[in-house]
Amino acid sequence: MVDVNQSIIFSPCIVSPATPLAEAIMLMTQAKGNHCPVMLYEEPEVVSPVKSQPTSCILVVENESLVGILTERDLVKLAVKTTAFEKTTVRDVMTSPVVTLFYGEFSDLFIAYNLMRRHRIRHLPILNDRGYPLGLVTLSSLRQTLNLGYFLRFRQVNEIMTHHVVWAFPNTPIVELAQIMSVHGISCIVLVEDRGGILIPVGIITERDIVQFQAIALDLQKLTAEQVMSTPLFCLKPEDTLATVHQKMEELRIRRLVVTGKQGELLGLVTESNLSQVLDPIEIYGILEILQHRVTQLEAEKAYLLQKQGIELHEAIEKNQFELYYQPQLNLTTQKIIGAEALIRWHSPERGLVSPAEFIPLAENTGLIIPLGQWILESVCQQIIAWEKSGLNPVQISVNVSSKQFHQANLAEEILATLKKYQVKHQWIKLELTESLLVQNIDIALEQFNILKAAGIKIAIDDFGTGYASLGYLQHFPFDTLKIDRCFVQNIHQNAKSAAIATAIIRMAQQLNFEVIAEGVETAAERDFLYQHGCELIQGYLISRPLPVTEFTNLLISG
Ligand code: C2E
Ligand code: CA
Ligand code: CA
Repeated sequence: MVDVNQSIIFSPCIVSPATPLAEAIMLMTQAKGNHCPVMLYEEPEVVSPVKSQPTSCILVVENESLVGILTERDLVKLAVKTTAFEKTTVRDVMTSPVVTLFYGEFSDLFIAYNLMRRHRIRHLPILNDRGYPLGLVTLSSLRQTLNLGYFLRFRQVNEIMTHHVVWAFPNTPIVELAQIMSVHGISCIVLVEDRGGILIPVGIITERDIVQFQAIALDLQKLTAEQVMSTPLFCLKPEDTLATVHQKMEELRIRRLVVTGKQGELLGLVTESNLSQVLDPIEIYGILEILQHRVTQLEAEKAYLLQKQGIELHEAIEKNQFELYYQPQLNLTTQKIIGAEALIRWHSPERGLVSPAEFIPLAENTGLIIPLGQWILESVCQQIIAWEKSGLNPVQISVNVSSKQFHQANLAEEILATLKKYQVKHQWIKLELTESLLVQNIDIALEQFNILKAAGIKIAIDDFGTGYASLGYLQHFPFDTLKIDRCFVQNIHQNAKSAAIATAIIRMAQQLNFEVIAEGVETAAERDFLYQHGCELIQGYLISRPLPVTEFTNLLISG
């Protein structure tokens, strides 16, 4: 934050309201403001204007306090009218009341700047606590002080881009690149292909890409840049404006952009820090101020909504408005349905079918996840028993357990008690947990896990690869199944990065004797790729969407 300093406050030119206008204009054209000899938190002394800096306004004072301001704009307005000049006094044309700022409240330049922007004024009188003008702040003095001669849209990429870019070929081992990055303190490397002597960028590798792989890949040694790099690459031209850079970074959520020439050749790199050097601090501060205000508003709204929706959700549990859907899981080798994931749905009378992605977080925040989780498990148990009674062979049902449910210290006991209550064999239940659980409450989780494991209940780790659970973690936890997250499955056959992650997960699972299942499989190409790389269990729209229980039961009957 920029502090108020003496150079920003000018001593004002002061007249009385009765002053003839002509005299005031004279003063305005001749008088020059000067810097007040003020130090921070000390009232500036008022000195008579001396020649140093042109002033473009006059302050009007009556009975020791400010009553109006006379600016160039007032005078320009006057020029369009045809009043008799000689008879006019300052009082007739001055602007009143005046937007002012008390010296005691002038703690920061942005306060002045924002006041001026909000009220669209160029002059801001600074008053003492008795209302007497001590000085004047002008917009141009502010801008000069903050050194803002430019805006992003008037500046081009070539002014700020880094010309010296470290590049490598895609077949370079990732370990080599990591070394270069750490030795030279570089945060990214551009990957290029040599096409007839011209280096064409094809991808980029950042520190974060490597960290992501370190977290999950078994063998960094075997990976090449090609498998880790981010593609496709969005390239800028040197003559693009910085506004475009800013917009692209926001839109693509990246911090580095490659600059290419006419033939697509590598010219340079623009990074977020290149950009932040030219960002207008005043603009940013203005935006921040608005955002802060909005955040405060939103928080209040959110608290209210949360309370309201929490009540709705509570009623939903009481009124039994939930239903479980079942999404089949297929073994590609045997072509048999080996299980299903239970996925909850809420039929809200007001809102229709509400997605769990929306109300599960709400249930977690309000604590309702505990009774809801209990309802889910009980429903699954009742369903398994119903299948058995009707002579059907049940399949293993995966039940999602929120990490918040682990706040219940006796979760494992509760689960076992529920299974006992319905006399459900433990083999029919599998629990799905996410990586975040392991990172958040490791000790409690481990204890609960061991109880469940000892009772023969299988545990799957959901959304695997999206968090930062590393191999080290996995060895400590007695999991049975790894679920490869949908984001790595999507277009796996075309996306080298997803393919590398997914195959690393599969390899890792095989070595640790975990079962592995891919979720979100939507196309035959994705299925085939996974199968060829050793993953034989899949779940996804390609097999079936989550089904209401009657439809799923029909599927079980028909095999
Ligand atoms: P999840 O556990 O990762 O569940 C998988 C989600 O992916 C489900 O969304 C499922 O319908 C969807 N899905 C399955 N196959 C495909 C596919 O091929 N393509 C696409 N695009 N999506 C697919 P859903 O049912 O909306 O559930 C969303 C999330 O809500 C779940 O993510 C889970 O975190 C949570 N959730 C759902 N049911 C429960 C529950 O009973 N208990 C708890 N604690 N959380 C639940
Ligand atoms: Ca799940
Ligand atoms: Ca999942």
